[in-house]
Amino acid sequence: MKACLLSAPAAIETKPLKYADVAVPQPKSGEVLVRVRSCGVCRTDLHVIEGELPPRKSPVIPGHQVVGVIEKRGEGTKRFAVGGRVGIAWLHQTDGTCDYCRSGAENLCDHPTFTGYSVDGGYAEYVVAPEAFMYAIPDGFPDEQAAPLLCAGIIGFRSLRFSGIKAGGRLGFYGFGAAAHVAIQVALHWGAEVYASTRDARHQKLALELGATWAGGTFDEPPKKLDAAIVFAPAGEIVPAALKALKKGGVLVLGGIHMSPIPSFNYDLLYRTIRGKMARISCALRPRFPSERMCKCILSQRPTAR
Ligand SMILES: [Zn+2]
Ligand SMILES: [Zn+2]
Repeated sequence: MKACLLSAPAAIETKPLKYADVAVPQPKSGEVLVRVRSCGVCRTDLHVIEGELPPRKSPVIPGHQVVGVIEKRGEGTKRFAVGGRVGIAWLHQTDGTCDYCRSGAENLCDHPTFTGYSVDGGYAEYVVAPEAFMYAIPDGFPDEQAAPLLCAGIIGFRSLRFSGIKAGGRLGFYGFGAAAHVAIQVALHWGAEVYASTRDARHQKLALELGATWAGGTFDEPPKKLDAAIVFAPAGEIVPAALKALKKGGVLVLGGIHMSPIPSFNYDLLYRTIRGKMARISCALRPRFPSERMCKCILSQRPTAR
């Protein structure tokens, strides 16, 4: 099969991904083989490709927002029929035995594996994954609309839940890319007001078009104190600014898989709660797909070979 292989992390400008022929993987017990129809491109793929996340497997096929159909079932699988449409996300598998797994918090597992990082992912014609960690994709979503929800959607939705935001509440977004542009649609559906802080003027415009009450630069103070905020950008220097924008007792959620170091800040800012690492969630925790009417992703599509 054709796949995009990363042999050694390097700056993206040096084109470290090579389009190569590799053997079609075979499903082991509990796994299924999936024919990939669409795979989203995530900022975390760039962290893997450029080595900001230390290599776990080499060479590796990146990609962790995979939508495809079941091609072949491994021994003992029964959850999906051949031809069924499924999604594969970042959390590939957990050990199932540590204290976290045994207490219903397997997203915190001590020994997880990650799609497109510690095992091969979806920048390929085929991928294998454990059926227990896959998502059934509802019929209402085209492949390319469902793919971004498998990372951006999961991070956005889990961050929203952790923010504790309620109808009428004021919610800040720091960074306005893939996760935020999905999350704002859900937040508005829930009746919250959204304040978007992002350095990119196009993203400020997009936030306003999608219904944000206010949009400004990353370090511009929102016009009102916020009940909660979510930092989607992988930049630690945003954290003190986001804490300052919150009411006392507010909640700051750090949504990314990776973040640059957080600078020191005054103890006074810790009248707030910080929560982080939103992406490690598995389907055992049953995040629900939103209704296709509730959220629509803005897409830029490319064939894999380019
Ligand atoms: Zn991702
Ligand atoms: Zn575990």
